[in-house]
Amino acid sequence: MKIQNSIKAFEEAQKYIPGGVDSPVRAFKSVGGTPVFIEKGEGAYLYDIDSNRYIDYVQSWGPLIFGHADEKTLEAVTETAKKGLSFGAPTLLETELAKEITDLFDTVDKVRFVNSGTEAVMSAIRLARGYTGRDDIVKFEGCYHGHSDSLLVQAGSGAATFGNPSSPGVPADFTKHTLLARYNDIESVKKCFESSSEIACVILEPIAGNMGLVPADEEFLKELRSLCDENGTLLIFDEVMSGFRASLKGAQGLTDVKPDLVTLGKVIGGGMPVGAFGGREEIMNSLSPEGPVYQAGTLSGNPVAMAAGLSTIKRLKENPDIYEVLENRAKKLVGGMKEAAEKCGIALQIDVRGSMFGFFFNENPVKNFDDALKSDTELFAKFHAAMIERGVYFACSQFEAGFICTETTDELIDETIEKAKEVFGIIK
Ligand SMILES: *Cc1c(COP(=O)(O)O)cnc(C)c1O
Repeated sequence: MKIQNSIKAFEEAQKYIPGGVDSPVRAFKSVGGTPVFIEKGEGAYLYDIDSNRYIDYVQSWGPLIFGHADEKTLEAVTETAKKGLSFGAPTLLETELAKEITDLFDTVDKVRFVNSGTEAVMSAIRLARGYTGRDDIVKFEGCYHGHSDSLLVQAGSGAATFGNPSSPGVPADFTKHTLLARYNDIESVKKCFESSSEIACVILEPIAGNMGLVPADEEFLKELRSLCDENGTLLIFDEVMSGFRASLKGAQGLTDVKPDLVTLGKVIGGGMPVGAFGGREEIMNSLSPEGPVYQAGTLSGNPVAMAAGLSTIKRLKENPDIYEVLENRAKKLVGGMKEAAEKCGIALQIDVRGSMFGFFFNENPVKNFDDALKSDTELFAKFHAAMIERGVYFACSQFEAGFICTETTDELIDETIEKAKEVFGIIK
């Protein structure tokens, strides 16, 4: 495979952009090699600037549930754009999209739009703190909630539940209110509540997609809910990835546990930069200008982005069967890969939730971040590179989820499994 143009483009980009990318994972650091530069996307396919074609299982990290350059989404975007790109004043589109969302989620009476998942989570946490009058928050190792200061934490030394900054530039004073717990381990959450009586909220990805795909156990979620209720703490579901992906209602379509606040992003913008957070009226009314908790955005509720989201969400609501179709295809994909891997003596842990899928090169089931870290990342890197060579574009890290779009046909999945078979035979 020729990627000369990408190699040149990457060298050039690195002169002007740190690492040559605007989001670190794109640099392929964890798998090695050169990231391919993208010329265009079409349905399930990506095309790079050397004219190589790939079956794309990243789909812009989740947003493109109808695939690349989807005609109806493009139409909504271009029609709206012709009327102007931004007004910084209310439009009907915002209310329309807000209605669609509140209609879908029982727990959401009101919603506010922002421009990214990071912003959605950052704002939801400020709201939770403002509403409860408390400072501490609990997050889980391996869950990603964007790059705001208080969420860039890693485990401290020993048995301490309070986190340390995971990046230079984040003062320890900013993360000292963030307690860290273990995913799917309720005892670790109880410890957090023992070390602090001032916990404003517990935030988690109810279906984690940022340590690879690791769903939360139903029992764990139930116990979390009770712990939060006993302590007057808000429960936040970060569904930036799982929303409109795991099911039409995200993880909330698959569990009986109800959060107090939910954050959305990715699919909600249909490929445009959009985030949102929502919840019960009494909580949401604490937000400025209705209440005292400040939050704002010049481009928030941008009409073009709202139009893309609205078109996407409406179509999903009109075609709820999509999720079963996509889930079956996702199951076929990872099921076929697992079978092929096992024939070569490679252990693969697989899981699927709706249009999200995951696979770990791991001997044992993965329930939390520690388990995920035991995966064979070297083998993954080899697999990733060999699949790219064969025109299949998987996420460039063992610790990312994969995505099926409506254009990922059964034929494309068969083709992918065939190629994976060949690759397992070579890398084993
Ligand atoms: C992607 C993601 C975010 C961050 O969203 P950005 O739009 O990248 O800022 C937050 N939470 C979860 C669960 C995500 O998957």
